[in-house]
Amino acid sequence: MRLHSRLIALNALAIAAVTILLSYFLSHGVANVVQSEAEEQMAGAAALAAATIRTHPDRGDPIRLADELGRLLGVRVTLIAADGTVLGDSSLTPEETRAVENHRERPEVIQALETGRGAAIRYSATVHMSFIYVAHRDGDLIVRLAKPLESVDGLINSLRWQLAIAMTGSLVAVLAFGYTVLAFVSRPLARLAEAARHLAVGDLDREIPEVRGDADLVRIGSALSAMSRSLRSKIGELVEEKNRIDTIVETMSAGVIVFDRNARAVLANRWLREALQIQGPVDGKSPLEITRQPSLEAAVRQTLEFGGVAATEWTTHQGRTLSARSAPVGRRLGEAELAVVVFHDLTEIRRLEAIRKDFVANVSHEFKTPLTSIRGYAETLLSAPPENRETLREFLAAIERNATLLSALVEDMLVLAQLEADLPMQKQPVDIRALISRQIDSRRHLLATRGIHVEIDCPERSILADPARLSRAFANLLDNAIHYNRNAGEIRISCQETARGFAIAVSDTGFGIPSEDLPRVFERFYRVEKSRDRSAGGTGLGLAIARHAIESQGGSISVTSTIGVGSTFTIVLPQEIRN
Ligand code: ADP
Repeated sequence: MRLHSRLIALNALAIAAVTILLSYFLSHGVANVVQSEAEEQMAGAAALAAATIRTHPDRGDPIRLADELGRLLGVRVTLIAADGTVLGDSSLTPEETRAVENHRERPEVIQALETGRGAAIRYSATVHMSFIYVAHRDGDLIVRLAKPLESVDGLINSLRWQLAIAMTGSLVAVLAFGYTVLAFVSRPLARLAEAARHLAVGDLDREIPEVRGDADLVRIGSALSAMSRSLRSKIGELVEEKNRIDTIVETMSAGVIVFDRNARAVLANRWLREALQIQGPVDGKSPLEITRQPSLEAAVRQTLEFGGVAATEWTTHQGRTLSARSAPVGRRLGEAELAVVVFHDLTEIRRLEAIRKDFVANVSHEFKTPLTSIRGYAETLLSAPPENRETLREFLAAIERNATLLSALVEDMLVLAQLEADLPMQKQPVDIRALISRQIDSRRHLLATRGIHVEIDCPERSILADPARLSRAFANLLDNAIHYNRNAGEIRISCQETARGFAIAVSDTGFGIPSEDLPRVFERFYRVEKSRDRSAGGTGLGLAIARHAIESQGGSISVTSTIGVGSTFTIVLPQEIRN
């Protein structure tokens, strides 16, 4: 039941109850007062009548006497003998008086006979009215006066009417009061309750309605409005903050995945989804389901159960080496709320580590052979110097050859280290023909000795390149083309524009490279088995240097070869300027 209805009902009930009680007590009080008043008056009148009768000349005719007294007093007068016989009655005819029953048992008569005075109130069924009877005994005559209680009833009735009017007025006032409560309290309260309900379920977009009515309710309304606005702005800030963090996590250059207390994924960023080639959402999946890696499952469980940091590393089917480090977030009672796993791709680091280890092993191996050789010759020379001058010269020549190889190795390694350490300088126009001619000219003597003929098919033009690195690469290709050529062979240098850039090809008529060795000739220290003659002087680093010098400026280098016919090494340098 609404507040105003309840107030109206309670007030109406209270008014009705008060009116009924008032009506009851007032009626009785008034009736009592009026009756005793009437009784007193009638008793006086009865005594007076009795005194009058005593001396009245018509004393012998009680019927007339009763009539006359009745007329004079304006009440019904009954004269009764001590035995109850009705002697005269002002309201009855003489016949009726004679026929009327004995009044000996009437209460007022009994009382009067006993005490001299009696009174009673009775309802008369004959005239439908209440009567007050007062009896006065004077000797053996009882004078009884009777008067209808009409006036008392009328008084009480008018009193009741007034009470009824007062009650109706009060009820109307209560209704008006109820309406005021409805308009100023109930309706605004209902609106506030509705608004509060929307706030409670997080529906903040709904405007809080303006409340009119009671001042306190208006204050509550504006407080609710302010609360809603502040909640909206706080939630807006939180959402913005969350979006920012989501974006940061999503675009991080490391993998992130978050697991809840049950080791079920709740978030994974793009890096991770791409690295693990995850299609679809990861939500609700276990570490094992996501990575197929039991060690990660164990690490995450360990973090969640004991709140510690756990790490693992493995190689995926795609050959990527991933490291994962699981850390707890929001520890409670030793258990973590979440486990945040950060992934890093160690593929490149591990590859470089492997290359470095390989390189050290290769360098040691490369150095060992000439050093052993030098030591052997030197020891022989010291312990048992050969008598023969020719043998002595051979020993010394072998020492010199190995020392030269060692210094060539050191020099090439330095060049390679330099190339790796320095960034290529800005590309600049290089006169390609002049560059080729310079390199050929510095080898004129060697070419003539070997009887090798060089043919150049290059346009007169400038290309974009790092001149020092291009010279180094071209020189190494040219040296190999001379070195591995047959005597009186040929070298052809041709240049041409291609879709991928400017191509410079160096072809020779040497013994060629077996196809199984072709993919490896650019590796460091790689030498084709046939030419593994160290005395030939090669370090196995020439092509590695050439490749580095070209690739570091965005170009490429490749080789084709036919056994017994010759090999062609091609450098391609892109000509557009790339940032
Ligand atoms: P090296 O200093 O031994 O020449 P490179 O790196 O320049 O080392 O060459 C690697 C190997 O490739 C050589 O040992 C050689 O066997 C082979 N090679 C290089 N160029 C040629 C070529 N023009 N003809 C045949 N074989 C070649």
